[in-house]
Amino acid sequence: MQNVPSWSYTALAQFENCPRQYWLAKVSKQLPFVETEAIKDGNTQHAFLENRLTKKEPLPEHLQRVEPLFTLLERGVQAGKIKDVQAELEFVFDRDLKMIHVYGQRSPKPFFMKGAWLRAKFDLLVLKDDKTALITDWKFGKFRPAADQLELFAGIAFKALPALEMVKTSFSYPRLNQVKNMTFFRQGAEEAEDVSGKSEADIWGEWLGRVQRLDDAYSANNWPCRPSGLCGYCDASPKQCPHSKK
Ligand code: SF4
Repeated sequence: MQNVPSWSYTALAQFENCPRQYWLAKVSKQLPFVETEAIKDGNTQHAFLENRLTKKEPLPEHLQRVEPLFTLLERGVQAGKIKDVQAELEFVFDRDLKMIHVYGQRSPKPFFMKGAWLRAKFDLLVLKDDKTALITDWKFGKFRPAADQLELFAGIAFKALPALEMVKTSFSYPRLNQVKNMTFFRQGAEEAEDVSGKSEADIWGEWLGRVQRLDDAYSANNWPCRPSGLCGYCDASPKQCPHSKK
């Protein structure tokens, strides 16, 4: 897999939704990144949650339903029942899936560092002990429980934390009061509601297969249009794509 310069869940999802849009955005760079109102709002809400944990700044009224969780975590740390709680933790891996950096603060640096191949950020990481972790991803859009991103979180956690045996991953929608949970075991488990049967090896087998398809697109320089309902949200112009809705 020599061709993919670097990837993240978002970049791979963009390629899978439409290779042409990925090419326009990431390869030919004809589609500049646009910070939409939804992205700005998400960043603002993430900062509220991060500042509550790292600076003890009170949460605004509309995020108060998260406060009991944070209070519980802080008491757990004080009582020695929780090893560590981190917000906005960024992991960077090289092509051999070796972790080359981890950043405990918001920073654009890891996204441009030499050797970076896979980048991922955990909004909230709770280490109960070396073997057990909880990863939460805050969501502020519509409820879309796409469990495959949770799977990638688990795979990354198993790579980054070698002693980890079990990780409970969650999408948490504070505004909607909805949660999607999925628990993973490094060695796999019997599949059940909210418990994945996939082991770390299964997870990476699947994800590296998905990245291989992106690598193949780079090799063949093949970026076909994949029209769908998402075309209405795409910034491609009619000159850039015949399916443009612009
Ligand atoms: S308009 Fe549709 S098919 Fe064309 S690049 Fe955008 S998402 Fe792809």
